[in-house]
Amino acid sequence: MFIAGIDLGGTNIKFGIFSKEGELLKSWKASSKPLLDPKVIPDYIFDELKRYEQWAEIKALGIGVPGLVSVDGIVKESPNFPDWKDVPVKQMLSEKLGIPVIVENDANLFTIGEGSFGNAKHCKNYVGITIGTGVGGGIVIDGNIVHGCKGMAGEIGHIVIHPSGPLCSCGKKGCLEAYSSATAIKKIMFHQTGLELEAEDVAKLALKGDKVALKVFEKVGYHLGIGIATIVNLLDVEVVVIGGGVSKSWDLLQKHIQKGFVEHTFKVHLDTVKIEKSLLGDNAGIFGGFFIATTVFNNSEVS
Ligand SMILES: [Zn+2]
Repeated sequence: MFIAGIDLGGTNIKFGIFSKEGELLKSWKASSKPLLDPKVIPDYIFDELKRYEQWAEIKALGIGVPGLVSVDGIVKESPNFPDWKDVPVKQMLSEKLGIPVIVENDANLFTIGEGSFGNAKHCKNYVGITIGTGVGGGIVIDGNIVHGCKGMAGEIGHIVIHPSGPLCSCGKKGCLEAYSSATAIKKIMFHQTGLELEAEDVAKLALKGDKVALKVFEKVGYHLGIGIATIVNLLDVEVVVIGGGVSKSWDLLQKHIQKGFVEHTFKVHLDTVKIEKSLLGDNAGIFGGFFIATTVFNNSEVS
């Protein structure tokens, strides 16, 4: 038997097929654009899974979706898929595939992946942060992912750093996301130089020693460190794992993250809390999908 983990993003959807012991046997990506129309979800995913020769032996599926996901697997809304309103993804997929399906928010799936196979392995209390266009997060306390009463817990990107800071995508001011995301990197660079560059290009300039680009990453990292201090002060977690596209610039960010953290957290946390780059990188989501699917499969066997 095999287990499938799927990580849906705004551009790509990533598939992973695992042995029941958690070995990744095959992974591939497809465009997520056709999924803008929620009606195609079951057929599109079924057709993709059929690319694995032994697809008929896939016995459970865990999928991460960007947006607000209810505990019963209904996607209430998704910033990347505007036409998805109250879409019963779990029901649609389990009916089409005839196997147990579990749906989770994508940042939670990243966090679960790092906790089961990555840099937060064996931790009971930890936080995952994904930094791309926006900033997402997942919180694990006493070994359980925290959903909150509306499924909205873990919106780490909207911790307020400065109430009069830059405008955030959520319409408020001064959120972490407005300081420490790929969008923020582009904006800060534009304000400093008038150049319209992608975050990766700013990183390339910084790696070549460009002073303005280096300053951009200093600012981004420092504010991220302040946000992490707030999280650690509040939740007393032992590890914070950072993933997403911006984490690829870890060498440019790390010391500034540490500075922001050290200046704003309690002394007791300084030598005990680890702030780490994601170990699994782009695969964290599919590993998280494997982990939750295995849990739901085992439960279905018992009942
Ligand atoms: Zn915000």
